[in-house]
Amino acid sequence: MTKRPSIGAAAPMVTMPEAPPAFHVLAKPTGAICNLDCEYCFFLSKELLYPGSRFRMADQLQEAYIRQLLDAHAHAPEVVVAWQGGEPTIMGLEFFRRSIDLQRKYALPGQRILNTLQTNGTLLDDEWGQFLKEHQFLVGISIDGPREIHDTYRVSKGGLPTFDRVIEGLDVLKKHSVDWNVLTTVHAANGDHGADVYRFLRDELGAFFVQFIPIVERATSESLPAANAGWSADNDMRPLYVQEGSLVTDRSVGPEQYGRFLVDVFEEWVRRDVGAVYVQMFDTALANWVGEPGGMCVHAETCGLQLALEHNGDLYCCDHFVEPDYLLGNISEQPLVELVASPEQQRFGEDKRDSLTRYCIDCDVRFACNGGCPKDRFATSPLGEPGQHYLCPSYELFFHHVDRPMRLMATLLGTERAPAEIMDVYRAEDAKRGRNEPCTCGSGRKWKQCHGRGAVGRG
Ligand code: SF4
Ligand code: SF4
Ligand code: SF4
Repeated sequence: MTKRPSIGAAAPMVTMPEAPPAFHVLAKPTGAICNLDCEYCFFLSKELLYPGSRFRMADQLQEAYIRQLLDAHAHAPEVVVAWQGGEPTIMGLEFFRRSIDLQRKYALPGQRILNTLQTNGTLLDDEWGQFLKEHQFLVGISIDGPREIHDTYRVSKGGLPTFDRVIEGLDVLKKHSVDWNVLTTVHAANGDHGADVYRFLRDELGAFFVQFIPIVERATSESLPAANAGWSADNDMRPLYVQEGSLVTDRSVGPEQYGRFLVDVFEEWVRRDVGAVYVQMFDTALANWVGEPGGMCVHAETCGLQLALEHNGDLYCCDHFVEPDYLLGNISEQPLVELVASPEQQRFGEDKRDSLTRYCIDCDVRFACNGGCPKDRFATSPLGEPGQHYLCPSYELFFHHVDRPMRLMATLLGTERAPAEIMDVYRAEDAKRGRNEPCTCGSGRKWKQCHGRGAVGRG
């Protein structure tokens, strides 16, 4: 293992901790290779880690990986086989057919296996659609919003728009009734349009499962000018992206903008879509309000159970830390389960909790936020401490904003009623609201011009 000063140095190498019963690996069969060239993509530059590589997971490694992954989940109710990239569909269907064959070969008695695929959708055709349906894949498709927003940063190798190609791919999934969800990044181009983006995903695409991911591209004063200029024209110029620097690119979402985006979406969702549309952030928040584990590692107390596997078998602490200091080892040389259970990885996960600032420790919404992902903790807290999350103002804004509705939904759940009943509460309150009153989202606009547009009300 390579030098890892921050997380390796203090780790006692005495006994190997027990392996967790379940963990999640994002496997990258093409490494960082992708047919697109999204301007904010932090992963494309990881190609530099493997000079001269063909960037194709070898058959032997694929077999070893599937066998090790299934074996490691002997005591879990389900194992997830997750493929991501780069663009994993570049491997071609045969690779994925083989993966299914290997799962049949190595599945433990009664083992439930879920296959997932995160894709930009542009290479999907009917053959893919049939295969994904037949094997019940859950497919995540990346779309940033309506055409003009999506095409701002999500472009082809030649810098051309990709919206139509992505929609064609999504149509394939719909045609074959494949389970899909949408992953939407939040950045400078869509950060002020939360409700519009959400309505597009819901109404135009028909999405029922939505994930929002904030784009925070770190930079140093040296790297910022080139990073802002963009890489699409000359990808060879992309330097290896590592988590360093306390500046961010122009494409990044603002420190408070992400929170406003979420509030904007929430105010739409809570009035008409509770129980009908699953928004991962809201579901995670509700879980934290009722004291159960949520679905997002970012808002869990500790992390370390979401790893990344490169095309050559190298295992890293996390998809966001595919960089030399966070390389755990190679699964061809050391079993996957040992690397996951290693003191280094355990320390990586616990550091999330143990490195919180005093400002976070004393925060009244820490139970819901948990300080956010360590990769973005490069700001200074109001107490002057380094290591505060860049999006802290967003998290404070959002979690405070949803406190009352989350409590309400938690109470409903506690009495075995559906959280969706909260929509009745909002309906009753909205009916009494003056049309010229300020909107409940805090935008400063009038209710009738904001989330109350089209609603019946007083005044
Ligand atoms: S689709 Fe875009 S964000 Fe995803 S790997 Fe390719 S270039 Fe990166
Ligand atoms: S580093 Fe961030 S993205 Fe990675 S597992 Fe931890 S919280 Fe999740
Ligand atoms: S809202 Fe800010 S202060 Fe509170 S836990 Fe999150 S990052 Fe820390």
